[in-house]
Amino acid sequence: MIGRLVVLGATGDLSGRFLMPALAALHAAGHLDEGFRLTGASREELTTEGFREWITDWLDRQGGDLPAGARRAVVASAHYRRADVTDQEDVRALIDGDEPVALYLALPPSLFPQVVSALRSAGLPAGSRIVLEKPFGEDLDSARELNARLAELVPEQAVFRVDHFLAMTTVQNVLGSRLANRVLEPLWNSTHIAEVEIVWDESLALEGRAGYYDRVGALKDMVQNHLLQVLCLVAMEPPVTLGERDLRDRKVDVLRSVRLLTEYDVVHRTRRARYAAGRIEDRDVPSYTDEEGVDPGRGTETFAEVELELDNWRWAGTTFRLRSGKGLRADRKEVAVRFRQVPHLPFGHTGEVEPNVLRFGLEPEGLTLDLMGTGARAGHLTELELTAELEPAELPAYGRLLLDVLRGDPALSIRGDEAEEAWRVLTPVLTAWERDLVPLEEYPAGSDGPAPRHTYGPGPVTREA
Ligand code: NDP
Repeated sequence: MIGRLVVLGATGDLSGRFLMPALAALHAAGHLDEGFRLTGASREELTTEGFREWITDWLDRQGGDLPAGARRAVVASAHYRRADVTDQEDVRALIDGDEPVALYLALPPSLFPQVVSALRSAGLPAGSRIVLEKPFGEDLDSARELNARLAELVPEQAVFRVDHFLAMTTVQNVLGSRLANRVLEPLWNSTHIAEVEIVWDESLALEGRAGYYDRVGALKDMVQNHLLQVLCLVAMEPPVTLGERDLRDRKVDVLRSVRLLTEYDVVHRTRRARYAAGRIEDRDVPSYTDEEGVDPGRGTETFAEVELELDNWRWAGTTFRLRSGKGLRADRKEVAVRFRQVPHLPFGHTGEVEPNVLRFGLEPEGLTLDLMGTGARAGHLTELELTAELEPAELPAYGRLLLDVLRGDPALSIRGDEAEEAWRVLTPVLTAWERDLVPLEEYPAGSDGPAPRHTYGPGPVTREA
């Protein structure tokens, strides 16, 4: 277990909102060693005292439910060093000593290549680990380049490319449910499943994050990383163990099996859109292009949808639709598995049968199954609620990730080849979108998004009387 965490970009939003509460949760659960030390760095002129006050403030706002003792312990473990982390001398002074460190790059991603180079020149103590936030690169070439630089710095096992979705219990539950239940796996293939929708729709609009979001957009912010990871867990072959090698090998198999979209496919099977002015519940929301800090000329999308197919034995013939949007009417964050129609209806009356749908709620937690009834319930769809009252997870997602980093278990982080495969899958989309082959649609904030081009599923089976 590594006893020192160095957060580069420690005064940023991610650090305050997620990392500090995660450390307090780790402390509260007894996972941090007595001598644990936190070093925070950024270019801001700040004293250790000032940094501690800043942490206290964030913990009051974001970690109010955590025990006061754990919060105080994290504050007391913190020290601050001013550093420009692209500067080799600053980085050397920051690392200071031979003890292995865990370095968390909570920085603007455009700095990652420079920082990795500065770390290499400065030299890291043996056994150190490095954590990189998303997005990992901007495209396939930049991800490859970053991987090559990282390989010169530390072994692959010591690189943690963060995708916090993998540490969410609801996301883990998708794979867990498959592996722990005999009833699902025999149906888990294209013979029985027509399509899978992986959706992360948010009613939240930009909420002041233009500086980051306007350069990234929905496809790179959500689909390229989080939603492709969920796709991997839905579609992977059962791994031999959940150890890092078995789990990550099986995920890479899924990404490698994604059929690359042709230009024709991108035009017909992807959509991009951004929100115009509207109302969400009782809030007036300005058009995305009128949000502070947005450059309308960039044409950034706030809604992205991509339909993929997998070229492998299990899934040939099933459609996987990945979608995420901001500023929508309501949150809808789920995996919806739509089964095929029954092959024949023997009922002696005119009937309509809806396909069965199994839904895994990603936020909030949920599990439901739509079943058709017969007899008195003929023609009625019953939604079976399969979720019991659950104990809250011991650790928030970032707590789990930090614990894995300190312990040295990279199973829930993205391996280098996996990051490259994820970019490979979306490269044809990025290229065609850059060339404006797919129009940028608009939808009013507070609506259900751009009008659907598809009717989901194969439609009801009807039978003539
Ligand atoms: P912020 O812009 O809020 O913070 C960036 C931090 O980096 C600041 O502390 C800044 O301080 C510091 N920094 C910038 N340049 C340097 C430099 N040359 N040397 C030292 N420190 C520097 O960004 P976020 O915290 O929002 O994001 C950080 C990372 O986390 C990004 O990769 C982002 O994509 C990812 N992320 C963020 C999420 C969020 O909700 N915020 C969610 C998921 C991922 P200063 O300028 O004073 O040096």
